[in-house]
Amino acid sequence: MAIIIDGKAISQSIKDEVKAEVAELKEQGITPALAVIQVGSDPASTVYVGNKKKACEYTGIISKSFNPDENITESELLAIIKELNIDPTVNGILVQLPLPKHISESKVIAAISPEKDVDGFHVQSAGALMTGEKGFVPCTPAGIIELIKRTGIDIEGKECVVIGRSNIVGKPMAMLLLKENGTVTICHSRTKDLKSITKRADILVVAIGKPKFIDGSYIKEGAVVIDVGIHRGENKKLCGDVDFETAEPKAYAITPVPGGVGPMTIAMLMKNCLEAAKAANM
Ligand code: NAD
Repeated sequence: MAIIIDGKAISQSIKDEVKAEVAELKEQGITPALAVIQVGSDPASTVYVGNKKKACEYTGIISKSFNPDENITESELLAIIKELNIDPTVNGILVQLPLPKHISESKVIAAISPEKDVDGFHVQSAGALMTGEKGFVPCTPAGIIELIKRTGIDIEGKECVVIGRSNIVGKPMAMLLLKENGTVTICHSRTKDLKSITKRADILVVAIGKPKFIDGSYIKEGAVVIDVGIHRGENKKLCGDVDFETAEPKAYAITPVPGGVGPMTIAMLMKNCLEAAKAANM
């Protein structure tokens, strides 16, 4: 029976740690604040933004909401970001993606000051991660490192395989595992003989975006399996990119869906907001 990595409990500990530090900062007259911009009213985005605001409330971080109409022009949105960049009462700026098609996401992300880039999507943040400089790390891969470490699993010297090369999960994940001295391989849609590579993995991170794609036959006996995928399957039940039923018996430890990687993303966002507030007041 594999260890089921409890993302709910680990994310709760992180939020509690953030809450305690926020309370200490408040005693010094510093109140961390996050600006959340949601363009339009996409229902999925509304749920994500709502969860982020709830986490802010829990940790004591102020959330300032901006909800422009979906017809806002790119330059109007850039002007809002410019204002928030220079607003000393705002520590973090989050623009909920995706944006309407007439707005360039890369232009909008580039407009956020790297000091307030709590999502870690700015090219300066990506470059800092690559070169080992200080900068914000995207929340999902940062949360995965916490899941692994707080389960007592060592990364150093391990064969780590990441499936997926997106800018928000796969690539930063690979850089973080490398930083922890793992031996890292990145697989993607053009990888040949995927199974021969995944079967080498001591730590396998799966971020493909295809329900139950990785079954037990892809997994080495005793591996740590991290499932980043989230899908609403048959019967409206949530599932991941990993077929839990066949993967779990092979694994040493595995994340469930839901309750694995999912809750970590928001917890790490809170941690990044706290760090932004600390850095701004140093
Ligand atoms: P993406 O679509 O941007 O990237 C998917 C990657 O998978 C690509 O790099 C592609 O090369 C690779 N891929 C596709 N088919 C493949 C195949 N057959 N073999 C090998 N590689 C293949 O997705 P993403 O944004 O990185 O997200 C991945 C999954 O994680 C999605 O299910 C998404 O919903 C989920 N996600 C979850 C969280 C969270 O908080 N838990 C956060 C972000 C993303």
